[in-house]
Amino acid sequence: MTTVVQQKENKKNSSKTAPLPQTPLKLTPENYYSHETDWQYMSFSLFKDFEQCEARALAKLKEDWQPVSSPVPLLVGNYVHSYFESAESHQSFVSENRKELMTRPTKSNPDGHLRAEFTVADSMIKTLNNDNMFNYFYKPGKKEVIVTGKIDGYWWKGKIDSLVLEQKYFCDLKTVDDIHKGHWNVDEHRYVPFIQDREYDLQMALYQEFIKQTFDKKCQPFIFAISKQTPPDKMAIDFNGVDDQYQIQADLDKVKELQPHFWKVMTGEEAPVACGKCDYCRQMKQLSGFTHASEIEV
Ligand SMILES: [Zn+2]
Repeated sequence: MTTVVQQKENKKNSSKTAPLPQTPLKLTPENYYSHETDWQYMSFSLFKDFEQCEARALAKLKEDWQPVSSPVPLLVGNYVHSYFESAESHQSFVSENRKELMTRPTKSNPDGHLRAEFTVADSMIKTLNNDNMFNYFYKPGKKEVIVTGKIDGYWWKGKIDSLVLEQKYFCDLKTVDDIHKGHWNVDEHRYVPFIQDREYDLQMALYQEFIKQTFDKKCQPFIFAISKQTPPDKMAIDFNGVDDQYQIQADLDKVKELQPHFWKVMTGEEAPVACGKCDYCRQMKQLSGFTHASEIEV
């Protein structure tokens, strides 16, 4: 049994030497998205950040730097999510983000009106609400369920949009510009659907594993995608195709291969690799020499 003194020692050293806290902080809806728990649990979004640019991910985590990006697409996603979580969640989301959701007040319209993006979000909600299959699968589940798990000894956290343990499945709701748009994949030299582009297959593989470790049940993943088009497109997606199981295994293998280095970057044992092209790298850039015209990377 560890004594209080030992625990204090562990805590003191944890940022330098031990990437794996013995007993990480208990996750709650309040601290789930905090950087404090990000230092103790890897998550799908943090892993993806590290994959894209280690220097950027670390600067964000240390709160040294913040991206200057439009919050609107994220807010649209949260607007739709909160609606299907509960009436109270949606109401509190709307009142907390009133400033971003509404246009500026004018003389003829002193309250402002809902911005165009959220009028579209309302029609996305309506589209899902009117769909029997969505209602049958998504609605009965327990919403925003926090799960944790260990992969090769490293702690991870995840949040399930809608979990139906008794029927052994879970659902994730994704908002997307266009379900059928192709995204160029540099490694594969081909256009891939949004699922591969945003690595949602990896997210589903991880969540399936954390649910198994948290509740001792193997649940199958479903994604309900809804597009921001007028009228919105929708799709119910499973991972039961011939290549899907192969993909899930490959995703988990990739996590096992990359995560030790990411943790060492977080503890300062190894230096972060800068991608040289992202918003963070561009902002930090200082010219240090000439590039041959024939050797510019595209
Ligand atoms: Zn970068």
